[in-house]
Amino acid sequence: MNPHTYLRCRRCGATYALDLAPTTCSACATAGQGGLLEVDYDYHRIAARLAREFWTERAQSIWQYAPLLPAGAEGAELSLGEGNTPLIRSRSIGAQIGLDHLYFKNESINPTWSHKDRCHVVSIALARALGYRRVVTSSTGNHAASAAAYARRAGLEALVLCPPETSPALLHLIQSYGARVILTEWDAREDFGRWLVAHDGWYPATTMDPNFSFHPNPFGVEGYKTIAYELIRDLGVVPDRIFVPCAGGDTLYGIWKGFKELRHLGLIDRLPRMYGCQPACANALELTLQRGGQASAILDQPQSIAISVRERSVGLHAVEVVSESKGGAPTATDDEILDAMRSLGHEGFAVEPASALPVACAAKLARSGKIDSSEVVVCLLTAAGIKWPDTLAQLTGQPLYVEPTVEALRQYLETHR
Ligand SMILES: [Zn+2]
Repeated sequence: MNPHTYLRCRRCGATYALDLAPTTCSACATAGQGGLLEVDYDYHRIAARLAREFWTERAQSIWQYAPLLPAGAEGAELSLGEGNTPLIRSRSIGAQIGLDHLYFKNESINPTWSHKDRCHVVSIALARALGYRRVVTSSTGNHAASAAAYARRAGLEALVLCPPETSPALLHLIQSYGARVILTEWDAREDFGRWLVAHDGWYPATTMDPNFSFHPNPFGVEGYKTIAYELIRDLGVVPDRIFVPCAGGDTLYGIWKGFKELRHLGLIDRLPRMYGCQPACANALELTLQRGGQASAILDQPQSIAISVRERSVGLHAVEVVSESKGGAPTATDDEILDAMRSLGHEGFAVEPASALPVACAAKLARSGKIDSSEVVVCLLTAAGIKWPDTLAQLTGQPLYVEPTVEALRQYLETHR
């Protein structure tokens, strides 16, 4: 494990050694208040050991940044080549919406086709280092597939709790990594997860905010910091605005934490505006901000084609990021998301609906004149569309059959110019 790392309570500041199983602050719990723990570092010691080239070199995975990850360099043994994803400049969407410097950070090329690999390679490395033998998570898609892959790669047992309506394609993907899947109702998944962690020795491969998962886990969010490091490495400047799909808020928070670390270490002198993008009918972040940000809004029945970010509530750390960074919580309708998916496809990116969401939101802000054309804008494309064949079919329709004669081909071309 990283010797310059410890856990710190986000509420009272109490510190704990990293060999503690992920939980909440015991000092705050005694006072009847939940204090979330997050990973902190002895930055001065770390900085003294890092040469300037550390920030400009390209490597094969996020383990280039091991000094700023809690697992330390031995976590690299689990690497499948996660991270180090390309930052691609837009060729057509930027021109259409009036942005001269629009970039896509393509996370869909990660080992299990989503940004979650950054989270789980770090989280599972900690599970192994802390002596766990079994890993449990609760998810319907990217999160579970990634947790399963890294848990099994680490030689740990993996159990995934899914709702019965989970798409068969995703269930088979999760199982293909060697994980066990239990199908059960939403509330039971929370109860099962809590019981397994508290009474049966399972490691919670979950998210940071306890309002959002059955048990808080402060480790995975550290993996998302590497997105900020890579952006600075590849752009050479601080982006003005970053649009990120937002479910619980870990990705948004992790990227923000990465930028703040870079400023703390004296490598950048300003921070980007951060946007947590959500579906119009699953907008817990927007509602929470409107209501003062003290407690998450709870939606009865969130609706959206963007299933990966269709959640009832949001973590308060996402609220903190949007407020601190003077960003926003923009939303997009399903039609706007599908339009963005289509436009991204025409630029070479076949992404899932949640990944089209930031592009839809950035387009709305740009078209309303709220972003200057000279600003550097980054949209995070979190996951591949190929995992959702039904959604792709909805986007494209069925191709036509043409009889096997040249005459039939000619007729086809005449009627489909
Ligand atoms: Zn505390």
